[in-house]
Amino acid sequence: MSFVITPPPVAAVPVVGGGAFPVHRIYCVGRNYVEHAKEMGFTGREPPFFFMKPADAVLPAGADGTVKMHYPSLTKSLHHEVELVVAIGTGGRDILAADAMKHVWGYGVGIDMTRRDLQGEAKKLARPWDIGKGFEESAPISALVPAASTTIGADTRIWLDVNGARRQDSTIGKLIWTLPEIIEHLSTAWTLAPGDLIFSGTPEGVAAVEVGDVLTMGVDGVGTLQVTMIEA
Ligand code: MN
Repeated sequence: MSFVITPPPVAAVPVVGGGAFPVHRIYCVGRNYVEHAKEMGFTGREPPFFFMKPADAVLPAGADGTVKMHYPSLTKSLHHEVELVVAIGTGGRDILAADAMKHVWGYGVGIDMTRRDLQGEAKKLARPWDIGKGFEESAPISALVPAASTTIGADTRIWLDVNGARRQDSTIGKLIWTLPEIIEHLSTAWTLAPGDLIFSGTPEGVAAVEVGDVLTMGVDGVGTLQVTMIEA
């Protein structure tokens, strides 16, 4: 088949040690840390729910682990949400939690950047969240590490600093829904495929950033990422 326009490039995230991981879909888990759910006005315990970002929302870090993000349009409240990102290597549907980790290719550190004011307005009007979550460059992400080269445990720390001040600091063990449970739930609603990324949820401490801010974050054993906010 010949394309009638030039096909868009494949969104991809570099891999530590070489190569790149092509991105199929980006799934995100909502309110997956109790204290973050509370700061958003919820009780902290509810069945998992999901939303998506377009694949080309990824904003991969360069070889030095840094990237610049353009402050997006329409918002006056751009929030950071640092998250452990799971990269799916083999797909499937109705995957059981007990089998889920076999489907994981690797991990990254990402931020689910959120136009919080627009998300809040959408919630209030019972409209979709896309404008708050699924915009260009809304998924800055580190290079990925293969699952075989790291261990993610309950004590694995996840943290984010803005201009050197700690804003988010938690552990993977505080996820309400664990990684295997997330994959189990997700794969009942969608057929997971190689290339899918899952943003697993953010701990408490989300707040707004401004042009000029430098965000530094990491997940122990996975890597670090530095994002500098620049003018549009
Ligand atoms: Mn999030």
